[in-house]
Amino acid sequence: MLQCTAFTELPEMGARVALMSPADGPGQASEAPELDEFLLCELGEHDDGTEHAAQLWSASAAAGRDLWLFWTEADGRRKFRFEELLPCPAVIHRLSVREGDACVLYDRHPAAHSWDVTDPLADLMAERIREDVRRDRDGGCPA
Ligand SMILES: [Zn+2]
Ligand SMILES: [Zn+2]
Repeated sequence: MLQCTAFTELPEMGARVALMSPADGPGQASEAPELDEFLLCELGEHDDGTEHAAQLWSASAAAGRDLWLFWTEADGRRKFRFEELLPCPAVIHRLSVREGDACVLYDRHPAAHSWDVTDPLADLMAERIREDVRRDRDGGCPA
């Protein structure tokens, strides 16, 4: 399954509010981490009736929960909401690895678990990095 290709600009004000813990006093907001300007939907391809979802960093999320940004697009406008969710409990055990891979999505997410979602962009990047490594190794080693 391919990854959903939707992305959104981060609604900055909303994100700052979500990232701020209630204990923060004035001035703390400037110490919020750098936020990615664009967020990619992390779900596998899904239908229009399902919200797009991207995980955000959060200092204030309750223990064991992750902060997610959900959005929908309708009539050219995006609607955002934030929600703290438990991680998906699913873990896949492959023969080749001892630990198993945990799904990085949230509990009861739609579409496939993260290990069944292929991100074409990430694969492309990984291939580039492999090529760089190969070139460095070949170049640095006298034949
Ligand atoms: Zn999506
Ligand atoms: Zn999952």
